[in-house]
Amino acid sequence: MNEKLLQFIWQYQYFQNADLRTTDGEPIAIVKTGMPNSNHGPDFLEARIRIGDLLWTGSVEVHVEASGWIKHHHGEDAQYKNVMLHVVWKNDVRSKKKMPPCPVLELQPLVPRLMLQQYSHLMKHGGFIPCDKSIAATSPLVLTHWKERLLTERLLQKAAPVLEGIQQTGGHWEEIFWRTLARNFGIIVNATAFEEMAVLTPLNLLAKNKHAQVKIESLLMGQSGLLEDLFQDEYPRMLQQEYRLMSMKYQLRQSPVKPLFLRMRPLAFPTIRLSQLATLVYQSSHLLSAILEKDKIEDVKDLFRVPANDYWLYHYRFDNAATFKEKILGEDMVNNIITNTIIPVLFAYGQQKNEPKYKQRALNWLLQMPAEVNSIIRAFSRLGVKVNDAAGSQALIQLKNQYCRTRRCLECAVGAALLKNA
Ligand code: SF4
Repeated sequence: MNEKLLQFIWQYQYFQNADLRTTDGEPIAIVKTGMPNSNHGPDFLEARIRIGDLLWTGSVEVHVEASGWIKHHHGEDAQYKNVMLHVVWKNDVRSKKKMPPCPVLELQPLVPRLMLQQYSHLMKHGGFIPCDKSIAATSPLVLTHWKERLLTERLLQKAAPVLEGIQQTGGHWEEIFWRTLARNFGIIVNATAFEEMAVLTPLNLLAKNKHAQVKIESLLMGQSGLLEDLFQDEYPRMLQQEYRLMSMKYQLRQSPVKPLFLRMRPLAFPTIRLSQLATLVYQSSHLLSAILEKDKIEDVKDLFRVPANDYWLYHYRFDNAATFKEKILGEDMVNNIITNTIIPVLFAYGQQKNEPKYKQRALNWLLQMPAEVNSIIRAFSRLGVKVNDAAGSQALIQLKNQYCRTRRCLECAVGAALLKNA
């Protein structure tokens, strides 16, 4: 037994509570278990409990062993004066000296053994997730509500760095969108390198050079440190020349993090991604404002179906000729950008501007996006947990990363249902 589990058992009343009595034999009826308190003070506040003939309102303190009251010096702490019930797993104190003057409720004899076994299994079991044998049997209603909460939690989590950036830049939404978008174009391996490049290549610098796509491309490649070699082809030499001129003119500082090419599909090489990003910057101005005006997700997708520059029809890296291949940003990558950049920024925008319509649109768009395909979603699918859209896949990613990995089963609706039904 641990205190967290005991608090959980008290909060959800997972014990036999018919003919409940204190250790002194007085009858108890729980009207309200109280609000969990994560700050200093008793574990539950504003509980309502009938003890004997009197209805009490006050705090409840929970300890695995009753002697915890003495060990933690609660008797000397004014915050605990309002405690009206001491809930313990085991009453290991016989003398009432130093103990709170309130009644004691001992839960050990009242909690089903099966529930404890189920909890122990969740805390010890290996595998993809601790409840891998049971999650598929969770009631669809419980799972649906829980996934909705997880999705909101994930969107809030993803919106947090956006809102932080907005604070730091004094409310420059387009700039933060540019950095977030560039990071997304780097897809995990080069995310930091691309974001650093975007921070050092602000939108006003790009705007000054928007009359020529090649200038934008040379800025993005050069700022990423990809124009440092001795090149054979005319195209990279021209980009290099352009970059050197602009570097001197604007006193540019290159990103300290250079993009990597290792273990990557050629279509995702940083050269190809940066060229596509350059086309996007060249073709659109005030991109976030344009997105905010769109109602339909298909219209947003159209903005992002951009090609790399013509040189890249026959290349994946500078100076390395290859067979012809168009390098238009693919459907999967566009979906990825919508799920991981556009929707979180839209949600953050609605939150900061207090405009619920943007948050609602973010949720609607997620429901229209296909579920992501990755190792987490594949593993859930093998366990019988299916998802139909990106809203579902985002919720399951949140579940796995924020709950299952650290065994927060007591805070999870699936865990609560499993323990309740044990
Ligand atoms: S956190 Fe929830 S879903 Fe994850 S293992 Fe625990 S009970 Fe299962």
